[in-house]
Amino acid sequence: MASQPYFYLMEIVLVILAFFALVVLCFIFLTKPGKRKTAGSMTIPDSYKQHLIEKVQFYNNLDEIGKTSFETRMMRFLSRVRIVGIGTEVEDLDRVFIGASAIIPIFNFDRWEYVNLNEVMVYPETFNTEFEQKGSDRSVMGMVGEGAMQQVMIISQPALRQGFANQSDKHNTAIHEFVHLIDKTDGEVDGIPELLLRHRYIMPWLEMMLKNIRQIRKNDSDINPYGATNQAEFFAVAAEYFFERPDLLERKHPELYGMLAKMFGKTLNSTS
Ligand SMILES: [Zn+2]
Repeated sequence: MASQPYFYLMEIVLVILAFFALVVLCFIFLTKPGKRKTAGSMTIPDSYKQHLIEKVQFYNNLDEIGKTSFETRMMRFLSRVRIVGIGTEVEDLDRVFIGASAIIPIFNFDRWEYVNLNEVMVYPETFNTEFEQKGSDRSVMGMVGEGAMQQVMIISQPALRQGFANQSDKHNTAIHEFVHLIDKTDGEVDGIPELLLRHRYIMPWLEMMLKNIRQIRKNDSDINPYGATNQAEFFAVAAEYFFERPDLLERKHPELYGMLAKMFGKTLNSTS
């Protein structure tokens, strides 16, 4: 008689233990998979992939391994950087364009992270340099913030979209802004990206920039005249050309092409 309740008690204890084991397992499964959650967010949604296929030439020129790497890194970027619309709605397409523009310039540097960027603000039109949308000077299409706006990039939605609508005009505002951020990583936006440029190339690069700026000013160049503003703008404008029309740049400006290829880690004499 005495053993019956004892058995009963053991059974209850076992059930309780099993229940706790289950709770602990669930807990481990749901918390450790912070990794799982991250991995999930790295999986590219079909709609994003479709936008890449339809709109991003750089992505389409990659082989399958390259495409997968591009997708993963783009999703990692998008999970880390906040994208907010200011008076406009940010659509999937905009997120893909911003993510793609971030990855294109640093695609050859696996471990590159934009440590100097937390947020991208998308404006419905161009803005002036005080970030106001209305006013006398509304011509700015993109900007990397300074001072209180450190860690922020601002971009006009029409300019962002236009950059990918026409991929042969050597112009892409978002890539331009990300190249400024890359330039800024060494502390200064001065056209000399010290992280990408070996020391011995700095002087030749400076000379090359000045020579090209002189040619633009003499109206003797097919490089966007905005590049003649200063060295930082020349670097960003030349990079737009490099990523959008590499073959044309190589033909028309072989030295400039060679230098940018070195900086952006592109293997020269490839089969492409
Ligand atoms: Zn610029």
